[in-house]
Order: sequence, then C-alpha cells, then structure tokens
Amino acid sequence: MKKNTYYIITIGCQMNKADSERVASFLEERAFQLAANSKEADLTIITTCGIRQSAEDRAYGLVNQIKKANPTGSLVITGCLAKRKDVIRRLKNQVDLFLPINELPNLFELLKKNNFQEKLNADELRVINGEKYLSIIPKYHSPYTAFVPIGNGCNNFCSYCVVPYARGREVYRPIEEILSEVKGLLAQGCKEIILIAQNVNSYHSSEKNFADLLRLILLIPGEFWLRFSSSHPKDLDDDLINLMSEPKICPHLHLALQSGDDEILTKMNRKYSADHFRELIRKVRGVRADLAVTTDVIVGFPGETKEQFENSVKIFQELQFDFAYISRYSPRPGTVSSLLVDDVKREEKKRREEVLSKIIEESSLKKNQQYLGKEMVVLIDGVNKKGRCYGKTASFKNLWLFVQDQELAKSLCGKFIKVKIVSATSSGLEGELVIENNF
Ligand code: SF4
Repeated sequence: MKKNTYYIITIGCQMNKADSERVASFLEERAFQLAANSKEADLTIITTCGIRQSAEDRAYGLVNQIKKANPTGSLVITGCLAKRKDVIRRLKNQVDLFLPINELPNLFELLKKNNFQEKLNADELRVINGEKYLSIIPKYHSPYTAFVPIGNGCNNFCSYCVVPYARGREVYRPIEEILSEVKGLLAQGCKEIILIAQNVNSYHSSEKNFADLLRLILLIPGEFWLRFSSSHPKDLDDDLINLMSEPKICPHLHLALQSGDDEILTKMNRKYSADHFRELIRKVRGVRADLAVTTDVIVGFPGETKEQFENSVKIFQELQFDFAYISRYSPRPGTVSSLLVDDVKREEKKRREEVLSKIIEESSLKKNQQYLGKEMVVLIDGVNKKGRCYGKTASFKNLWLFVQDQELAKSLCGKFIKVKIVSATSSGLEGELVIENNF
C-alpha cells in the first residue's frame, strides 16, 4: 500500500524549528514518510513566522510556488500566521487548513472537516484526543543538540509583537515532563540541550521557577552543555544571574534590548529602562567573565527621533555586544504599535541599521580576537562539502576546523573537542585540533 508522504518548510525562530520537529514525529507515528520535496508530498506543512513582513512575504511566495508545482497535494499553514484573519482571507483558496500549533494533536480531525481525508490512506490517520502538542516527542534535527521547548506563548504584549496574538498566552510544560525529555536525550548521547520559550525566565510549574528547573537539570549526571533562549530583561533576577556561574550552563546570554531610549522602551511596553539593562549586563558579566552577550534591537520604531536613536548607538558602544539581530521596524497587523504612524522613512531606517551593524561588526571582531591563541572545548556539529568541520564554542561562536583526514573529521561530529584558535573574524573563529577530548 502506498504510504502517505509529507514535507515541512520552516520559517523563523528556534520555537518554529522545534514545532516542526513535533509535526514530523506526529506524522511519522501515523505512518507518513518524508518526501524529497513539496512537489512529491501528499501533505505539505509550512511553519510560518509573522515577526517581520519579509518572513510573511516568504510564506505567500511559498504557497503560490507549492500550489503551482503540486496542485493536488494538500497544504497546511501552521505557526504565527495560522490565526491571522487577513492571512486566512488572502490564502483560503490555496490552503487546506490553517492549524494553530497547539491544535496539532487534532490535525486529522480538522482536516477531515475539510474533506482532506479522501486524498489520503484513511487507515493511517489515527486521531488522538487530549494529547498536548508539547508532550509529543519530536523528531530531533540532530542527535547531538536538541531544542527542548519549556512553554509556548507570551503574556508581555510588547507593542510591536504579534506573538501573544499568534501563539496565545503563556502555557508551560510540567517540570517532570521536561526533565524526562532531557534525561532521555542525554541517555541517547545528546550533548547540548537548548531550553526554549518566548520568555524562558517567566517559566513556572508546580511552584518551581526557571532557576529551579535549571538546577534540577544540572543534577542530571553526564557531560553536556545547557543553553536557554530567550530571556526578558524585566524577568532576569539575581538568582538566575548567579546560576550563570555553573560550568555546564553555557557562557552565553541572549537578552533583547530593543532600544536604548527610555521613551521608546515605554512606547514598546518593554517595562525596563536602558539603565536597568546596563545594570543587568554589568551583573552577569561580573558573575562570568567569559560570558558572551547577544541582543535584538529595532530601528525606526514609530516616532523614534535621531536623538532617541543615538541612545541605542550609545548603549551599543558601551556594552560591546558579541552579536545583535538588528531589525528595521515594520508594523505587524493587530499590534498596538501598528496604530501609530510609521513615520521614520525607509532610507533613514536603513541608515540606522547600518550604523548599528558597523558597531556590532567591530565589537564582534574585537570579542572574537580575544580568543586568538587560546585552547578551548568546542562541540562539532558536522562536516561541510569542503571537508571543514563546523561547530560552536560554549559562548555560541561559530567555529570552523580543517581536519585533513576526512574519516577523522566525520568521527568528530557530536563530540567535545579541544581546539586552538588560530584566526578570528567578526562572524566566527577558526581552530586547529589539539587533542581529541571525547567525553
Ligand atoms: S516578550 Fe515581547 S517581543 Fe518577546 S514574544 Fe513576548 S511580546 Fe513578543
């Protein structure tokens, strides 16, 4: 009997990647097979992102492309655009189902309503009621490194952000379930656990908070790296900051600044000041000197004057981030800031982006050059087509390593390896193999 086939396209953040991993395992448990591409798939799922207009446009382009190449296949939209009324109106003739991700366990029930089941081998389509989507064990993208979602949704309502509308309010996974997933991963040889949620540090379950969760994971024996993302500055407390000294917690903090100007931060509904942000970075660098700090910033928020933008420039120069994701503001439908006049001209947004990019390029280079000549442990993720190993440092720097013997290069994948840093650019480091330090 011909198996049903599926294909998944993921746009956007780590949370979307983790969601797609759960969609894949959900389908494979129901005897679906991965197709080579969407043209050959009975069912294509696009995990969409609505954080920027460009991500949204990519989804529209993909829908057109897929329907043209595979008019009889079925198409499901999940992720951040799945609940947007304007998107549903625009795509309803091409898309079979708009699926809010927390409805994943009901996928086939919902498709059935749309007569989709007629196109597939119905025997395979078991419907399980009451299953929670985050409890589904995913099909991990790598055996060495795993995203572990600890929750979904956001209660913060930053004025520019669609997430609270697209994903709903915060829902957290029970602590036992997270611990059991992490233990299972480590038992199978996973080396890097990345806890993810829109705001990890507002995690709570059974009277335990995020720092408690980290402490419980640290009790699990074995050699592994523990990372988390994203943290909100208003929820980063001293307990969590002090925990950053634990050797198994990677010396990397991603903390979104968004603006260096207090009035703009208030308009963004961020609930902290630029000075509070400065103080957090001072404290956390005090706890761990080798800590790398990355951030997000928006330029050209409605009403942002040149003087207000200069406050972002000032804080970038002062704090010397290791990296920053710089976004030109674009209004997102349904958000509070979309009601404000988007009055900073395109050219000016571009100029502001370039100013901050230049500062970041210089600070990243300076930070990376500090590693020159040092020996450090890195985790190797894979070998590229040119035979170079690639991986990450604990501080989340990209690392490349040339190993002559290709068999040896392949055998390094998924291992902690000691390297000596021989060159540094603003985008990463290059190392030489010192000794194989296979934990
Ligand atoms: S904290 Fe703010 S920016 Fe982050 S997901 Fe929540 S609403 Fe969006």
